[in-house]
Amino acid sequence: MKALTFRAEREVVVENVAEPSIECSTDVIVRTRTSAICGSDLHVYLGREKGIEPGTVMGHEFLGEIVETGAAVKDLSPGDRVVSPFTTSCGRCFYCNRGLSCRCLEGQLFGWIENDEGLHGAQSEYVRVPLAETTLVRVPESVDDETALFTGDILATGFFCAEMAEAGPGRTVAVVGCGPVGLFAVIGARERGAETVLAIDVVPERLALAKRFGGEPIDASSTDPLPVVKERTDGRGADAALEAVGSPEAARLAIDLIRPGGILSVVGVHTESRFAFSPVEAYDKNLTYRTGRCPARRFIAPLLSFVARKKYDFRSIVSHRLPLSEGPRGYDLFHRRLEGCTKVVLTF
Ligand code: NAD
Ligand code: ZN
Repeated sequence: MKALTFRAEREVVVENVAEPSIECSTDVIVRTRTSAICGSDLHVYLGREKGIEPGTVMGHEFLGEIVETGAAVKDLSPGDRVVSPFTTSCGRCFYCNRGLSCRCLEGQLFGWIENDEGLHGAQSEYVRVPLAETTLVRVPESVDDETALFTGDILATGFFCAEMAEAGPGRTVAVVGCGPVGLFAVIGARERGAETVLAIDVVPERLALAKRFGGEPIDASSTDPLPVVKERTDGRGADAALEAVGSPEAARLAIDLIRPGGILSVVGVHTESRFAFSPVEAYDKNLTYRTGRCPARRFIAPLLSFVARKKYDFRSIVSHRLPLSEGPRGYDLFHRRLEGCTKVVLTF
């Protein structure tokens, strides 16, 4: 089958690899209908996250149709259209029972193989899904492929970020970074009832989308966000900052924007070894800091009901639909933000 694999820093290729097969009775094989490139794939692509083995199939955002089931799989059948969270989960361990499926004791991240261990990704024609019954979610007919695809990662992560930020009525929050995750954090904050959602980035297309989703855009390339946020909050600062970038500069900006007693909610994946703020600053601000991988599995079912109401045009974030064979170009466009690239979806 055709798959997009990691070869070296800034080099991904489409090549022929062996089709996956059932390895364990709880596995299923999914034929991919749509798969996407995530900001998290860029950390690997750009060499910020190291350790992945060359030849690993990239990607963890996918939706497809089940073509084969392991002997122990009873609740899923060939033909089912399913979406996957970006990690697998058993549904019954200490962490799964507490809604933290991303830390499942048996869980694995799609698209990460290191020292011969791990799981291939989903930017390929077929994907093997372990722990299938407690990982995959069946998609109702009323929801289209791309919208459903987003519930497994970027939409779940945006809502998780808004949840950690306690965005809600009467609160003013600042979203730092309006990539796909930040854009969906804008929607998450609005849906939780936040009064004002300030949305910060430097890319015009992304700021325009933030506005369409109910945010008030601030272009940090021409406007210093700090005085704007202060002015909107009687000089105090935001009740929470939602950081969806994953860089020291973004984390620094986020903490500067928060008022004393505020919350810093970080879903951006950080690869540096030190915080952008000191323990003294955290103390002096009575800061609450929340971060981590999104337990996407617990968000998917409620999000599928939410998107079925069609309140937002979630697909409007997609700027490029490319066949898998053009995946390498998709990585280049997405990371350099060329041609107005806001989100790349791969077609099969
Ligand atoms: P992206 O790279 O498209 O988005 C990042 C955005 O931040 C871009 O629009 C960029 O212009 C903007 N930006 C960069 N520096 C900035 C700064 N200093 N101030 C304001 N804006 C700035 O990627 P994405 O797909 O939206 O992902 C965003 C982050 O979320 C990545 O770090 C990704 O790894 C992470 N992520 C985390 C989880 C999780 O479970 N926690 C899940 C998915 C993605
Ligand atoms: Zn992702």
